Amino acid sequence: MNQFDIIIIGAGVMGSSAAYQAAKSGHKTLLLEQFDFLHYRGSSHGESRTIRATYPEPYYTQMVIESEKLWKETELEIGYKVYFKTQQLDLGPKESSSLVAVIDNCEKQLNRYRILDREQANECFSVEIPDDWIAVVTELGGVLKPTKAVAMFQTLAIKHGAVLKDKMEIVDVETDEDRGGVLVSSRLGEKFRGKKCVITAGAWVSKLVQKVSNGRVILPIQPIETTVFYWKIKQGKEIDFTIGAGFPSFASCGEPYIYGTPALEFPDLIKIAIHGGRGCDPDKRTWGAAVGGAEGTAKLVGYLKEWIKSRFGDRINWEDGPVMTQSCLYSITPDEDYIIDFLGGEFNEDVVVAGGFSGHGFKMAPVVGQILVDLAIGGTTAAAQRAEEIKHFKVGRFEGNPGGNVKHFGDQVRLR
Ligand SMILES: Cc1cc2nc3c(=O)[nH]c(=O)nc-3n(C[C@H](O)[C@H](O)[C@H](O)COP(=O)(O)OP(=O)(O)OC[C@H]3O[C@@H](n4cnc5c(N)ncnc54)[C@H](O)[C@@H]3O)c2cc1C
Repeated sequence: MNQFDIIIIGAGVMGSSAAYQAAKSGHKTLLLEQFDFLHYRGSSHGESRTIRATYPEPYYTQMVIESEKLWKETELEIGYKVYFKTQQLDLGPKESSSLVAVIDNCEKQLNRYRILDREQANECFSVEIPDDWIAVVTELGGVLKPTKAVAMFQTLAIKHGAVLKDKMEIVDVETDEDRGGVLVSSRLGEKFRGKKCVITAGAWVSKLVQKVSNGRVILPIQPIETTVFYWKIKQGKEIDFTIGAGFPSFASCGEPYIYGTPALEFPDLIKIAIHGGRGCDPDKRTWGAAVGGAEGTAKLVGYLKEWIKSRFGDRINWEDGPVMTQSCLYSITPDEDYIIDFLGGEFNEDVVVAGGFSGHGFKMAPVVGQILVDLAIGGTTAAAQRAEEIKHFKVGRFEGNPGGNVKHFGDQVRLR
């Protein structure tokens, strides 16, 4: 039987980043994926993810600052770009509690940020906002290329000696009574022996963890099917929405929370979408756009049309609706904070679980990969060293407290 120092289950961005970190640190590493590598059925595929430091929660800002450094270092190692930097623009009503928290956080943690009023926002970014709105501009922003970035981590993991296997659905992880560590079993009967194991199974993580822990651990993670919309930029205005012209990645606080990235992946198209979706079973997707079928989709598109018309006027063709859509999965926790913790029980610190990245995990993958490997290899000692960093991500926060971590600003995700 194959013997590894660390076995990682799930080759999305988190598992692939962890595999790279583990192999690079000299650990004999195995990465297992149920589908093909770089498949489109999870959360880490596609053309763009935003990186931004403008979080209302101070602990995420700190993680993004660290992650940005690691994205750049990893790009240098692979020799091509996955991170396209631009500014980040956050918009919203002056009194929006999440925007107020973002500004507070910028003040404490970011060297450079600016607050723009209606006129300044229009002058700098040609974006229209109401009189009672403001815009916050920060330097740490931009676009990450998801599929390309996952491929980068996998390639580098192989380069550092990791073994990668796809079409390998894992159905169980047990303690190895004879030798210590864990035994990992696939649906087709293959078995792998590992001193340590990391489970990064995305929208499938609750199912797998429930099985592995014999029902002891139920992670409150809701898989959500979400849809990304691309809109046509009007002829003659294409350049305005590019990074080269200074166009930012952006988010609009409030209800609904709307986000977008500069025109980059498809010529003359811009991604503008809503942070939200509909609850689903990841194995029984509808691939539709919204709760409530055609009527729900029309309502969702209606919000976006109104928002685009108000912010960008006639520079984007909102009238005819989106020209392209892509479906993707979120894994949402009740407080939208991640889950990164030991599985405990009979596994003690031999199995680490990471999931519930709640639609905002991609940018953090480099630092999450490091944390996962540290916890798996270093156990309680590593957890003590990283105590401050990981204290918000413990599974135990939901015990007798279904809402999890208390937030001082409104929820952002609604089922749509
Ligand atoms: C539309 C959309 C937009 C987003 N925008 C942003 C953004 O702008 N910025 C940002 O930071 N984040 C964003 N995110 C979130 C980010 O993409 C996710 O947080 C991140 O990709 C989660 O990665 P993951 O590795 O946990 O999950 P996944 O990518 O789903 O990977 C989990 C993997 O585990 C595999 N697996 C599951 N069960 C098993 C098993 N039993 N055996 C073997 N393999 C298994 C799955 O097949 C899958 O490949 C967005 C997400 C979506 C969907």
